[in-house]
Amino acid sequence: MNTMMNTPLTMPVLMDRGAELMPENEIVSKMRDTIHRYTYADLGRRARQVANALTKLGVKQGDRVATLAWNSYRHLEVYYAAPCMGAVLHTLNLRLSSADLEYIINHAEDSVICVDEDLLPILEKLEGRIPTVKHIVVMGNSGVWKTTLKPAHDYEQLISGEKTEFTWPDIDENSPMGLCYTSGTTGKPKGVMYTHRSNYIHTLTGGLPDMLGLTRADTVMAIVPMFHANAWGLPYICCMLGAKQVFPGSTMDGVSVCQLLQDEKVTFTGGVPTIWLGVMNELLQNPGKYDLSSVKAMVCGGSAPPRAMIDWFEKNLGVNFIQAWGMTETSPLGTVTRMKPKMKDWPRDKQLDVKQRAGIYAPGLKLRIVDDAGNEVPHDGVAMGRLLISGPWIAATYYKEDPTPEKFPGGWLDTGDVATLDAEGYMAIADRSKDLVKSGGEWISSVDLENAIMAIPDVAEAAVIAAFHPKWQERPLACVVIKQGATVTKEQIYDHLGKSFAKWWMPDDIVFIDAVPKTSVGKFDKKVLREQFKDFQLTTA
Ligand code: ADP
Repeated sequence: MNTMMNTPLTMPVLMDRGAELMPENEIVSKMRDTIHRYTYADLGRRARQVANALTKLGVKQGDRVATLAWNSYRHLEVYYAAPCMGAVLHTLNLRLSSADLEYIINHAEDSVICVDEDLLPILEKLEGRIPTVKHIVVMGNSGVWKTTLKPAHDYEQLISGEKTEFTWPDIDENSPMGLCYTSGTTGKPKGVMYTHRSNYIHTLTGGLPDMLGLTRADTVMAIVPMFHANAWGLPYICCMLGAKQVFPGSTMDGVSVCQLLQDEKVTFTGGVPTIWLGVMNELLQNPGKYDLSSVKAMVCGGSAPPRAMIDWFEKNLGVNFIQAWGMTETSPLGTVTRMKPKMKDWPRDKQLDVKQRAGIYAPGLKLRIVDDAGNEVPHDGVAMGRLLISGPWIAATYYKEDPTPEKFPGGWLDTGDVATLDAEGYMAIADRSKDLVKSGGEWISSVDLENAIMAIPDVAEAAVIAAFHPKWQERPLACVVIKQGATVTKEQIYDHLGKSFAKWWMPDDIVFIDAVPKTSVGKFDKKVLREQFKDFQLTTA
């Protein structure tokens, strides 16, 4: 017998909370040339108008409502309306190739796509190839948009006559509410279907003080795209708390980000390392131009942030630079790096060793590192193992696929990452298993080498890949981008690496390139780099 209420864990309970308790709090969006402002009360009303309009377009429980949009208030309204009415929010990554987008839309069987006006050309390329899509809803500002797609409706016109009431239906907590596809760093995109229950628990946990640490007093700017891993859950967490939200729209360059952080007195912000590199460069070039004293914490994930950058932000902005690790399959928050109290008095270098790690697992999850035979490897900060994770917001299979024992062994998700755990429980990503350099059967972490090379002040980017070697099978090859106007020699890089790495970890060669190719979400695209250097002749071979 249940002795406590078996209340279903469904998103409307959380989404309506901010609108009800913090109705006057603001949601601010940078549109192309203007700033749009309204309140949580407006958001709650408009989300219901959207739900009424989608219902009239024929959207039923379980149907997929897709978005192709930048971070803005309208995108947030669909984030709110679609799950609460029992439909599924499917966020489309606008940087994917046409072929991948077509594949994803058809695989998901989207019924409606809500698209920002300036992104219409992306969809128009798919005309006639996405048969399940019955309606296009254009989120426009000009009011004079044109498209060849049919039938296309104007978002504002569609919702303007609708009622601001909508009774959210009873929803089973295990029903689907959100769909994201992996961005395909390692192959064809795969769908991850979140449920009300999984996202509810992820939202509750994500805001905790030892996690992102958010309150209703915060002003939160998610620069991480809402089309990428749910913007790390920030829109949901903020709606639950009623925290002020700031959206950057399509402008995420250093100047625009700094300006918005300052003008809206943002206290907490989140983005991938590339964003923070842009911000750091803008601040370095214009000392004293911005007052960013409101910013207390910034979260960074998606790939490893360079140590020098973490140090720079903490020293120069006085912020807490929080690293997080996760993936589409983990909703995405898996680990977060916050210091334990005893570390407050540690020497700076030792603190940075911790900050450079990807963090401690979230409450509610379990995490292990194992060797190829499935045995746990030592938690000494050095031994590498395959990173396995499990818990209520971790994918148990891919959408429309049966779980394979390789990817989902015995109730775990094999993340495809190779990691170390230290004695304090802090995890660090050594590599994606595909990116590891396997030299004579021993693993060399490309990420460690890259971080070390990028710590050289005149180096802009560095990516280490495996090059073929007749004796060792694979040996590291470093591809290095030097800052404009600077010079760095191979010898300088080798001298620098020699201080921290064993001889057998040293790259066999260093090549200088113009830029490291990037994926749709701004990560180093080693698939492309490996292809480019597939015939590279190592002089050591
Ligand atoms: P994709 O799998 O398409 O790259 P995801 O956004 O799901 O898209 O990427 C998840 C991957 O990003 C992780 O498996 C990991 O390799 C990498 N990653 C995420 N956070 C970090 C981090 N803090 N440090 C290093 N790598 C990270």
